[in-house]
Amino acid sequence: MEKNLQTVLIEAKKDHFAVPAFNIVDYTSAAAVISAGEDEKTPIIMQTSTGTVKWYGAKHLAGMVAELKNSAKVPVFLHLDHCTEMDLAKECVDSGWDSIMFDGSKFPYEENVAKTREIVDYAHKKGLTVEGELGTIVGVEEEIQVDKAKLPSIDECIDFVEATGVDIFAPAIGTAHGLYSGEPKIDFDLVKEVSEKIKQPFVVHGGTGLDESTFKELVQLGASKINISTALKYAYYEGLDDYTKENGDKIAPVETEKAKYNAIKKMALYHIETFRV
Ligand SMILES: [Zn+2]
Repeated sequence: MEKNLQTVLIEAKKDHFAVPAFNIVDYTSAAAVISAGEDEKTPIIMQTSTGTVKWYGAKHLAGMVAELKNSAKVPVFLHLDHCTEMDLAKECVDSGWDSIMFDGSKFPYEENVAKTREIVDYAHKKGLTVEGELGTIVGVEEEIQVDKAKLPSIDECIDFVEATGVDIFAPAIGTAHGLYSGEPKIDFDLVKEVSEKIKQPFVVHGGTGLDESTFKELVQLGASKINISTALKYAYYEGLDDYTKENGDKIAPVETEKAKYNAIKKMALYHIETFRV
């Protein structure tokens, strides 16, 4: 049997690297991040936001990337990012995803645990892994500095992982989604404690905008999955802009796809290399 995502992440931690999880948006971005993984002989996680899943439809999206995934020369996982809807999470479990993140962080603690537990039970029957989140990872539209008091304590983290049975754990550590307007204040003490006291691999959300030394410190402390979404979106448009600058208004859709592919692959290669310590 092929290794599941949890096993691959545990091995990554031992081997001192983190597996990048890129939020793909179409076939070209999926092909680009997989190609980067193949060049660097690194496993790749293709994450899909719920918006992307709804746009394509779960079965169509899984089908669109299935051949890329199956013929890849490195392990590639299809992972659902930040799903707050039980029905959609279950639909992805049934449609070919390898791993599901259920984000119950907006619910009160007990409800977060109960809902996460429900999706864990459902997904485990089919051999999938589940990622759960505790605490709040703020978004680009909200204040960027996360108050340390809002971050979970190590005891809350341990309780949550045990009560839910999640395979992969995403505690809020002070990172944010989107772009940082100021210095991110990461609670490295919490990161260290989670890494030492919780055997489930832990995930860093909001990777875009962290500098190289911060990435490396997180990987050194044991982060084995780092999410990159915003940087892919920027690379997508950079590719399109570069094409337009060089070619004016030449109408050649396949060429613009290639420009997008190259920009996204370059972005992916940078993160793969940075996530090694
Ligand atoms: Zn996230």
